[in-house]
Amino acid sequence: MRKILATAVVSTAVALSLTACGGSSDGGGGGGDKGTIGVAMPTKSSERWIADGNNIKKQLEAAGYKVDLQYAEDDIPTQVSQVENMVTKGEKMLVIAAIDGTALGDTLQKAQDTDIPIIAYDRLIRDSDAVDYYTTFDNEKVGELQAQSLLDGLAAKGKGPYNVELFAGSPDDNNATFFWNGAMKVLQPKIDSGDLKVVSGQTGFKQAAILRWDPATAQQRMDNILTKSYSSETVNGVLSPYDGLSLGIIAALKSNGYGGGDKPLPVVTGQDAEVQSVKSILQGEQYSTIFKDTRELAKVTVAMIKAIGADKKPEINDDKTYDNGKKVVPSYLLDPVPVTKDSVQKVLVDSGYYTDADLK
Ligand code: BGC
Repeated sequence: MRKILATAVVSTAVALSLTACGGSSDGGGGGGDKGTIGVAMPTKSSERWIADGNNIKKQLEAAGYKVDLQYAEDDIPTQVSQVENMVTKGEKMLVIAAIDGTALGDTLQKAQDTDIPIIAYDRLIRDSDAVDYYTTFDNEKVGELQAQSLLDGLAAKGKGPYNVELFAGSPDDNNATFFWNGAMKVLQPKIDSGDLKVVSGQTGFKQAAILRWDPATAQQRMDNILTKSYSSETVNGVLSPYDGLSLGIIAALKSNGYGGGDKPLPVVTGQDAEVQSVKSILQGEQYSTIFKDTRELAKVTVAMIKAIGADKKPEINDDKTYDNGKKVVPSYLLDPVPVTKDSVQKVLVDSGYYTDADLK
């Protein structure tokens, strides 16, 4: 019953977003009489969060809400004070993509005390029972798909064993562990059997993690690994969990002589289908990325907000996976989609996410 109801809510949101330009009967045109939704995003330094913010804003305004959209440039105190302000202003609900999933505790307590519902957006907020819902992609699957594409790319290059290096995301982002665990589920058996050799020996999450997902840190780490461990070996593949890191990794590889005739670039994975990385994929440099459609994530989040606003139960499709240390947060998980050169057109252009011109 709940599912039927919630499905209807999702369909309404989809229909709304499709007809948003033509105006809608549901407070369309950004009338804003339904109250203000606070939306806290981590940074504008990565395209995906800009797209997330824009998509949510557009869809919420079309549904008659006002939107207080804030970016914190990956600075934790800035995000904490932005969220504090939202709570002080008495905004109706909060949508938060946390920089550090554990840093918002006290602020969220205040929100809970004044009955402001909180949706964790893409990244789980940890150690707080004030979080009501979570919308995201199947994060473990993202890791599995990254690892599988690494193996596919390596197999296309010829027979193993292969030398690989492993990167992980920011240790304070709950997603980073999920990506890593998903990837290692696929890669560990190959490491154990000797098909994959991590020449640096750095096979632990902590060794592989890149604080704040910083591309320059990834470039530095790749550079150090190449200097220390690859004087007489060649690296064939790199597991990278995010396009920004992949660009840093590729820069380090190029400055160490990779990308020429006798030393081709290794297979490098990614995530988010950011324009620069998609261009790199089309040019045959980065091998793959994982597309997570931010339009869809905005849609399910807005559908939740509308359901909560109407005192209905929002649709979820997972009530087991995301234990934040205080509670299992009811979640809606979307499907991530792997992309290589062959599928850019179909997945990213035909779906209208990018135009041909964007990728030129
Ligand atoms: C998101 C990824 C993104 C990464 C860096 C993660 O929490 O799920 O899509 O690549 O943060 O911004």
